[in-house]
Amino acid sequence: MVRSARRPLAVLASLACVAVAFAAPAQPVGLVAGFFEKGVEARLKAPLSRTDLFDATALRVVLCGTGSPMPDPARARACTAVIVKGKAYLVDTGPGSVNTLQLMGFPLDRIAGVFLTHYHSDHIGDLGELRMQTWVSGRTGPLPVYGPEGVARVVGGFNAAYALDDDYRTVHHGESYMPHAAAALAAHSFDIGEAGDRVVYKDADVTITAFAVNHDPIKPAVGYRFESGGRSIVVSGDTAPSPNLVKWSHGADVLVHEALSTRMVGIISRASTAAGLDRQAKMVKDTLNYHTDPVDSAKEANAAGVGLLVYSHLAPGLPQPALEKLFIDGVAAVRDPKAWVVGFDGLRVDLPYAGGAPTQSKVAMLGR
Ligand SMILES: [Zn+2]
Ligand SMILES: [Zn+2]
Repeated sequence: MVRSARRPLAVLASLACVAVAFAAPAQPVGLVAGFFEKGVEARLKAPLSRTDLFDATALRVVLCGTGSPMPDPARARACTAVIVKGKAYLVDTGPGSVNTLQLMGFPLDRIAGVFLTHYHSDHIGDLGELRMQTWVSGRTGPLPVYGPEGVARVVGGFNAAYALDDDYRTVHHGESYMPHAAAALAAHSFDIGEAGDRVVYKDADVTITAFAVNHDPIKPAVGYRFESGGRSIVVSGDTAPSPNLVKWSHGADVLVHEALSTRMVGIISRASTAAGLDRQAKMVKDTLNYHTDPVDSAKEANAAGVGLLVYSHLAPGLPQPALEKLFIDGVAAVRDPKAWVVGFDGLRVDLPYAGGAPTQSKVAMLGR
């Protein structure tokens, strides 16, 4: 049932592929049909090719959203997938992230839980879409959503907003394919206090600890540390430089850290003022004091003895590759160039349980 439920998604994705490939108007329709059929066949196999993501040889991370609220044509907003053996856990699901996962052919029914860092819209905006798409893909029970105080309110809102759609889909496809009781998100709230930490999930394969970060005045705001088979991945969430983040990143193999170029955002703010866009100038300037410049997060990664630093949640967006040089200006002076990477949607990092350095690769994405 799970596999048959996935197929309509794959067909739709193939349709999009063909639409791109045949934007030119002069193609004979028979040729288009032939390419369409081949595209469908290839796409139907794509989820199977992802099974290597889920074997038991490595702890893995795949970036499913590396953008910030600022516009970026190639990046969804905050989303990081941590893959432990047969299961995937999402840290945040910002707008566009479910589309990005679908472009990867990511098997959504493998998503076993969502861990929210805080409740800014760029971290929660796709919860409704994730709820629906994981259910369509074959999820058989409510999807757990973990978060600090406030998660029940957020989850309750999304459940209410999608209740009518739940009814439509069960009526249309049947209870055996779309069991109504499985549709919901299930909130799991935890309390870590002002500057604390807490194990929020643990099973035989993974321990997940939430820890407080500094996204003031936004409280609560947390990061997460995943530990599995002697390997570890930390996701910072949104934060200014934070001693508690350094503490909880200690010895981590990978730190996925948010990044805001104070120099570039400063340029945008000043240009907005000069253009008479005072409201935009203030909004942009206000972001400076609760994020971390790439150079500062490199220093924190050094202090924590992190193996690989991965920049994500990039602000501003980098629509031109040349801008990356400006974004990371100064990082190479404080950290070994082999020990950091500017993240992108589809970046995959494997941490073999047998030991050894992280390996980086790119997950193929439809149309990219
Ligand atoms: Zn935030
Ligand atoms: Zn954010």
